[in-house]
Amino acid sequence: MKKWLKATALSLAAAVLAAAPPATEAGAFEPPVAAVKIGLYYGSSALPSANLQNATGYGSGYDFGYFDESRNFVPIGAYTDAVKISVMRDRNMRFDGSGYVEGTSGDVVVGCFHIQGDRQYDTYGAAREAADRTNSSFVKYLSGSFYVCTGNYLTASAAEEARVAQGLGGSITSGTVYTVTVAETGTNRIIFEFDCGTGRWLGVMPRQSGGTKPQTWFRGYRYHGGFQYARRDGGDITVVNIVDIDDYTRGVIPNEMSNAWPLEALKAQALCARTYAMSKLGTHSAHGFDLCTTEHCQVYHGQNSANEITEAAVDQTLGQYITYEGELCETYFSSSDGGATEDVENVWNSKLPYLRGVTDPYEADIAGRLSNYSWTVTYTPEQITQRMRNRGNNCGQIVGMAVTRYTDMGNAYEVTMLDDGGRTWKLTKGDSIRSGLGAKSIRLTIGDAAPPGGPSGGGQSGGVYVDGSGQTLDSAMAPYYAIGGDGQVDAMPEEGALYAMTGDGEVAQVGAAPQTDAAPAAPAVSANVARGSGLVNGYFTIRGTGTGHNIGMSQWGAYSMAKNHNMTYDQIIHFYFTGVTIG
Ligand SMILES: [Zn+2]
Repeated sequence: MKKWLKATALSLAAAVLAAAPPATEAGAFEPPVAAVKIGLYYGSSALPSANLQNATGYGSGYDFGYFDESRNFVPIGAYTDAVKISVMRDRNMRFDGSGYVEGTSGDVVVGCFHIQGDRQYDTYGAAREAADRTNSSFVKYLSGSFYVCTGNYLTASAAEEARVAQGLGGSITSGTVYTVTVAETGTNRIIFEFDCGTGRWLGVMPRQSGGTKPQTWFRGYRYHGGFQYARRDGGDITVVNIVDIDDYTRGVIPNEMSNAWPLEALKAQALCARTYAMSKLGTHSAHGFDLCTTEHCQVYHGQNSANEITEAAVDQTLGQYITYEGELCETYFSSSDGGATEDVENVWNSKLPYLRGVTDPYEADIAGRLSNYSWTVTYTPEQITQRMRNRGNNCGQIVGMAVTRYTDMGNAYEVTMLDDGGRTWKLTKGDSIRSGLGAKSIRLTIGDAAPPGGPSGGGQSGGVYVDGSGQTLDSAMAPYYAIGGDGQVDAMPEEGALYAMTGDGEVAQVGAAPQTDAAPAAPAVSANVARGSGLVNGYFTIRGTGTGHNIGMSQWGAYSMAKNHNMTYDQIIHFYFTGVTIG
């Protein structure tokens, strides 16, 4: 019985696997939430008012409500057909031509004093019906109930005068520090007001028109999803875009890569972006959202730069995540690794099993196209001394500098400086080395010191190429030509076909993984520092390749794998993230 069940289960699993898209692996990951909260304006950039405009053909009007704990929009029945609306602080505000700012002068002024009726309504519809009977009346949502308010006045006494003149009941209100007012942009016509203290914030969701998913303009960018407006500290408005994770991904990949890049590279980026965001929920919880729109988290600017290729990259990886033993991965990526990525604990502090260093042969064949792939930084002894002192080191004049420990991947792990008092000062691990030296990556050497692995350049993928005049060439061979045995001149082949002989007669494949017999455990001691170490013609000279933190995926490596090697996004992901599952 059991055997039969097992066999059936297996054949069922086989059938499911056969039907599934080829790149998807078993056991799809279920994200804890469907949407992410992206902070557009917050903290010192919070706004006195924020305009919204339906993108033509992508929505018409808005529903009002709030977002619940699960990031779902909860409509409260309130809506408008207006296409251009502004959400502002409930203060005396004037329209300055583009938005509302505090003030009472000008042609368009929205006063914050209103006549509020005593009657409490259970539904928006009932309140709206009553409001529609009077000119300049609108509905206010106050802590779960609806009220009818009339007029907008600059002072309480002006509002009271109007109340008496119109024979209205009720009382004069000017809202609290948490009240937000919604008006038709450019007018003093109030559409709606919302105040639930700090318990709920106004949520605005564009209404769909036709069959297209709504998109909404806000400050020059076109967004999917809805918006939340929070006067968190009773002041200006924190604007948050609450958006489906896949639609968020659409707004990241053309900004973190180029929308002209190969599809498979963009798909790899889509998986990294989606997974990274989901693994970093609540990064900005102090401001009430998950992620910001800058490189601090991931660059996100809505749909502006999306095109058919970036949309396909998201659609073809819809709902897929990168996991390790069922947990979301921290899918770091950077521009280029210079030849090898690094074990994360050799750069930052925590060790993660899937962030292992890998030798990267793929960047080499596009490196010649990148103007800053190989870089040199130089300092006079005075400059580097000042730099170290600015970092809080009470050092004497620096007289020597060396990479004293390299990792097994051949990246710098520890840089030691010697001062004229004989004391040593260390920069340890990636971020410290990069910021301390002003280096673009940790794939570097200092002075004339050879990289680890001896003169064949074992630690530096691709080695160092020298032309007939002894000039060092960039690691890419693409722009160079060779004459074959048959006399034919050809462009230098890509890695895998070219061999070179070192001075000691050892033959090695160009661009192949470094030959290193360093112990696999702790980074190997590479050199000692002495007076004069690191100096070339009187300058401390740091040479390196690549740009970024050397953790996870190289974007240029992914580009090369997709463009030049016909590799698919799952191959790219599995290359840069050790032992992960895609699903
Ligand atoms: Zn951030």
